[in-house]
Amino acid sequence: MHRGSILWLFSLLWAQLKCPVDRAFMRLRPLGERPAPFRLSEDTLWIPLVVHLIASNNQTFLPFSDVQRQVEILNRDYKSAKIQFYLARRGPNGTPSCGITYHVSSTLADHDWETEEETLKRTTGWDPDSFLNIWVVEQITDDIIGYARPLDDTDGLAGVVILASVFGEGPSKQEPYDEGRTAVHEIGHVFSLYHPFEGGCAGTTPATCAVEGDEVCDTPPQREAIYGCPNSPPNTCQEIPTDQPDPIDNFMGYVDDDCMHRFTAGQISRMRLFLGTYGQVLISAANQQVRGRSQSLPASCAATATLPAPSLSFRLQRKGSLFFLESPDADYYHLALWNLNGQLVRERLEIPFSLEGLPPGLYVLQIHRTEGPVFLRLPWLWE
Ligand SMILES: [Zn+2]
Repeated sequence: MHRGSILWLFSLLWAQLKCPVDRAFMRLRPLGERPAPFRLSEDTLWIPLVVHLIASNNQTFLPFSDVQRQVEILNRDYKSAKIQFYLARRGPNGTPSCGITYHVSSTLADHDWETEEETLKRTTGWDPDSFLNIWVVEQITDDIIGYARPLDDTDGLAGVVILASVFGEGPSKQEPYDEGRTAVHEIGHVFSLYHPFEGGCAGTTPATCAVEGDEVCDTPPQREAIYGCPNSPPNTCQEIPTDQPDPIDNFMGYVDDDCMHRFTAGQISRMRLFLGTYGQVLISAANQQVRGRSQSLPASCAATATLPAPSLSFRLQRKGSLFFLESPDADYYHLALWNLNGQLVRERLEIPFSLEGLPPGLYVLQIHRTEGPVFLRLPWLWE
């Protein structure tokens, strides 16, 4: 598969949620089917992020400072794991980037996790092998504040979907999830961690703790999720040979943000092994080079040229250098092409059309229709 096809596939995935409701979308491969990890280095593992801000209108985007603060929180909380994050300075085709995309879509901003995940991710996401995608939306159905899919998701939907009201920290956020720990928790899922209460009291013995429950031996099983901020830990499962209280300050639990403080050594080891297995491209030195880890961010990263979110209802087909458009209806009347800086580069394209003569990069095709415009992503790469 050549690089263009990979870009066409973009990113897809799922996962898991934090309170008030959580659904176990983790679909990790069984232990026996996982390949040996490629890399067991003690080095810091670097993760380029792209944050897709999805807003219902131009006025409701989170400020860039909230995104930066969230990245700082991730780096503080993942420091013990020697995993660090940065906003990608280079986009999918090497163009300068803030590691943020801005999309206006009232439909996508009000997110139905059961029916709209694939649309959201396939229309806005970046290559999940090279970036960790985070989608920030305004609402999610069923009181979910975030959910994630692990890096080994075979549909390419890896990443985190999270509410704007819990992304970043401060008085504008939703108590008690106002300290940026939801993203810490969800990314733990992306890196293969389960909740300590996964499977209830399964895995209480030295022989079972690595293969049952959360498959981590130094997080004692707990019968169910613990909310709030308990002063002393309950003890809901009996471990042998030594009975231990339930973990109450773990990032993968459900306690309030200001009461979760740690990953265990076992969780850290599991995340790093998983990254070394399924995140080889993501954490590679070559990827850090391409994503501009050591470069500075562009002078301004605020939402200026915002792009309406593209639609899946039209599909582009490429044959050689020509693009054909498949549509559910035929009442569109003309096409225009924009670059990612929001500049109009081609007007009144006829079908099929060619992009010969344009520099390689990501473009957005605008389809004018009586019902309103539709936008499609259009990667243009040399063969
Ligand atoms: Zn969770």
